Amino acid sequence: MSAEILDGKELSKKIKENLKNEVDKLKEQGINPKLAVIMVGDNSASAVYVKNKSNACKKVGIDFEEFLLPEETTEDELIELIEKLNVDNTVDGILLQSPVPNHININRAFETISPKKDVDGFNAVNVGNLTIGRDCFVSCTPYGVMRMLEEYNIDVAGKTAVVIGRSNIVGKPMLQCLLSKDATVTICHSKTKNLEEVVSKADIVIAAIGKPNFVTGNMIKDGAVVIDVGINRLEDGKLCGDVNFEEASQKASYITPVPGGVGPMTVAMLVENVVKAAKQK
Ligand code: NDP
Repeated sequence: MSAEILDGKELSKKIKENLKNEVDKLKEQGINPKLAVIMVGDNSASAVYVKNKSNACKKVGIDFEEFLLPEETTEDELIELIEKLNVDNTVDGILLQSPVPNHININRAFETISPKKDVDGFNAVNVGNLTIGRDCFVSCTPYGVMRMLEEYNIDVAGKTAVVIGRSNIVGKPMLQCLLSKDATVTICHSKTKNLEEVVSKADIVIAAIGKPNFVTGNMIKDGAVVIDVGINRLEDGKLCGDVNFEEASQKASYITPVPGGVGPMTVAMLVENVVKAAKQK
């Protein structure tokens, strides 16, 4: 079997085109959606991610303001900026790019972002609302994965899903998203015993580990849906996911490529969240 590719690049283009029409209409009503992005210190990977987000916003017609703070910015200074943006009526969404320098408690910063402007869905209010099934801002990566499954008519209800990775930004919200759509979900992490065996029983495998080619073909059940969240840079500069694509695509029914899978969907969902925030203002 050779898997069908879940094309996040194409799908995200389509989503952004629809969002552009929506933003055009909002502008006719005098609403100008705006995203404020804060980056603390120099980080080349973060700079690339912020550039991608800025380009996506511009394409859709969303105003984008970048706050590049020096490495030595104190936690209180960062909090002060967030509080200023919280009460700035021209700003609809606030995103704090991670990582931040070690002397800053990123959770305190996330908690300071108003839940109404928390377009990354990292604030505990949004995390809690996701858990109890209320409308909220959902963390963009799991949200993008769910949208992709939906667009390809992959029904998760009753399916066995295994998420590898339990981070607050991917693994845990991914679990909640799948559960809310009636999948039977198992989450694996670095202490999981017999991980290969657990994964090999899954109808849907979501890899969010941060280790190149961690998931090999022998772990994939015939016909499984394989979603690779991982973005790893190899020594030769090439990007690769957490899944061994060559091997897994021989077993899977559907698979996401890296790049061009979950990454562009994450950015599209961020844009969608900013539009949602602007509409709810
Ligand atoms: P984290 O480092 O925060 O979490 C990694 C998770 O993987 C942890 O839960 C860890 O377990 C688990 N893990 C690590 N090693 C193993 C192992 N040997 N066996 C089982 N589990 C293991 O990563 P993130 O969630 O932030 O990101 C994961 C990947 O996704 C990265 O490659 C990142 O770049 C990418 N990413 C991609 C995005 C996109 O838009 N496509 C967005 C966000 C992230 P434990 O908790 O026990 O330590």
